[in-house]
Parts: sequence; structure tokens; C-alpha cells
Amino acid sequence: MMKFDAQKYRQTDQRFTPVYQQIADQILSATGKTSGVCVDLGCGPGGLGKALLDKSDLFVHFFDQSVEMLEQVDEKMSAAGTHWRSSIICGDIACIDLADASVDLAVSRGSIFFWEDLEAAFREIERILASGGWGYIGGGFGSRQLKEEITSQMNADPDNIKGDFRNKIKRNLGPESRERFEKALQRSGIGNYSIVQNEDIGLWIQIRK
Ligand code: SAM
Repeated sequence: MMKFDAQKYRQTDQRFTPVYQQIADQILSATGKTSGVCVDLGCGPGGLGKALLDKSDLFVHFFDQSVEMLEQVDEKMSAAGTHWRSSIICGDIACIDLADASVDLAVSRGSIFFWEDLEAAFREIERILASGGWGYIGGGFGSRQLKEEITSQMNADPDNIKGDFRNKIKRNLGPESRERFEKALQRSGIGNYSIVQNEDIGLWIQIRK
């Protein structure tokens, strides 16, 4: 299991604020899901789920395997007074503690690259989605310009991340990831999905139930 340094990720979370805003707009516009129940899978400190919550009437479950990350979500919800429209769930993506067909919108940004059992994860996402529900899972920075700005900042900050961030992103959002995801989607038996991949939005799997 990949361990993230939740305290270091605080800084990343702040740096990524415009990214979460942009991606939340893209998700709401692509799916039309502005009410009902959403889950942010591998939410980290919760930037994307919080942006969706702010821009819609969605109730948001924040799901992550890291207690330290979820403590930051809790702080965010307290500061914003949005506990009543959210819940916090600790667990592994391969076994999500949510009822069948209970979610209208399952989102995830930047987490799929660390999932050990992709097939199990996709089966779980399919299981929790309600009829008419959407999954929007992948990685990206919202726009080419934001990607450039953030990769430059991250590369200039060796304290923040090990290795070359630009290369890591190129690999994560490149054709090999797409192929790996596609194989796992097929093996998991998910019927209705498409993959969107380009320099502007990144690499996203869209699942329809
Ligand atoms: N979604 C956030 C964002 O966009 O900033 C956080 C991304 S961070 C790079 C990846 C997150 O996925 C971490 O918080 C990590 O704990 C979580 N994660 C990785 N594998 C997981 C798994 N199998 N089950 C649940 N969470 C997982």
C-alpha cells in the first residue's frame, strides 16, 4: 500500500485549488449530476469533493484509506459548516462501505494510479452506482495551462515530491495507463464506459449505469 504524507499533501491541496474548481465544472457539465449523492474516491484532503459540494446540491461522501487525509477533510467541513451535506468513510477502494445502487456520481482524481486491484475497484464502483449514475475517474489538471503551471511549481519544490513530477504525470496520463485501465474495465465486466484522453483535460474514464 502506497503511503502518502498527509501533512506534505496540505500544501499540494492548496496549490491544486484552481484544478479542483475546473475539474468540478467539467464533471458537472459532462454528467449533469447536480443533486443526489456523490462519492469522492481516494479523496485525499477532499479538494475535488468540496468543489463539487460548493457548486451543486450534491451530498458528498469523502472516501480514502488514510485517516490523516480524512482528518483534513473533517477540518474543511468544519470550517465551511458543511458536515450536514457530507460524510467521511475510511476504507480501501476494493471494498467500499456503501450500499448497492446508492450513489449518483462517483468521482476520483489522481488516486486510480495507486489502486492495486483495478478490477475489484471497477466492480465496486459499478455496484454502488444507482441506475442513471455516472462514474468519472482519472487524473488531470483541468487545463493545459494549469498543468504547466503546477508541474513547474512541483518540479521546483523538491521537498514536495520525490523524482521528476513532469515525467510522472506524463506516464500516469499516457497511453500505457489508458491500456491498463481499458483491460481492467473489460475484465471487470463494466458494460457502458468511455475513456476521454487529451492534453487539456487529462485521462478520464466515464462510466454510465
Ligand atoms: N483526490 C485527491 C486529489 O486529487 O488531490 C488525492 C489524490 S492522492 C495523489 C491519492 C489518494 O488516494 C491518497 O489520499 C490515498 O490515500 C488514496 N488512495 C490510494 N489508494 C487507495 C485505495 N486503494 N483505497 C482508498 N484510497 C486510496
